[in-house]
Amino acid sequence: MKYADLHVHTYYSDSTFSPEEVLAAAEEKALSAIAICDHDTTDGIQPCIKIGDTKGIEIISGIELTVEKPDAEIHILGYLIDWRLEWLQKKLKTIQDGRIDRIHKMLEKLESKGIKIEAADVFGIAGKGSVGRLHLARAILSSGAAKSFREVFEKYLGFGRSCYVPNIKFEPKEAIEMVIEAGGVPVIAHPGIMRKDEYIQELADYGLKGIEVYHTDHNSSTTRHYEELAKSLGLLMTGGSDCHGAGKGKVLIGTVRISYDLVEKLKEAAKR
Ligand code: AMP
Ligand code: ZN
Ligand code: FE
Ligand code: FE
Repeated sequence: MKYADLHVHTYYSDSTFSPEEVLAAAEEKALSAIAICDHDTTDGIQPCIKIGDTKGIEIISGIELTVEKPDAEIHILGYLIDWRLEWLQKKLKTIQDGRIDRIHKMLEKLESKGIKIEAADVFGIAGKGSVGRLHLARAILSSGAAKSFREVFEKYLGFGRSCYVPNIKFEPKEAIEMVIEAGGVPVIAHPGIMRKDEYIQELADYGLKGIEVYHTDHNSSTTRHYEELAKSLGLLMTGGSDCHGAGKGKVLIGTVRISYDLVEKLKEAAKR
């Protein structure tokens, strides 16, 4: 049997893992394919392909985009996109620049709560990566202002919490159309975290093609629920670990994996 983990981050966004480390971990888990789905960047794809080729591990191109509804943040995965497209890179650059501004805004809010974090520390942690809340959370933890990621997100950085700042405005319709225009397959990421099923039909109307049914944060009843929903809406099922290297404590790659048949279904969908 061939297995794939279709949700893996690299240090080009907020994983601690380099492409070398990602592929070494994938090899250890005997995965046949992995999808690189960094937040708002595709920079990790080519370096992973280069190493994947030497190990016989297939790299599926991907991205994880963030869109917002008034009451929730939704993540859209874009599989099998042509990441070399110039217009796509231009759009991503705008979003990445917005992420830098957003960090400064969140730092101001933190300072108003008496938590002083240097911007340079956050950008230092992010390194070459598309900067985000996980980098900021690590800076907060090392400052001693909180004791766990959970505390950081519950008090400060979680959606709607005291120091939360959204990314630049990006409509669900826009994100889905962007993925399709780049030749890819749009899939809603980890819907069990948000639990806003009422939006899935709307996203399907815009061209959403699948649901990430299998995910680290989905328990068995959540998984069954989304299997049923995917079937009833005629959507594909995907799955992945959402591995952030050691960025969230445990190395998750391969702990959620799907049969390669589902990858073939994605490829058929991309051709249409
Ligand atoms: P960003 O792309 O900057 O919005 O940050 C997204 C990252 O923050 C992802 O790695 C999420 O898993 C993480 N994150 C968002 N909300 C939470 C939360 N409530 N608890 C833990 N991690 C979270
Ligand atoms: Zn992340
Ligand atoms: Fe996500
Ligand atoms: Fe993710």
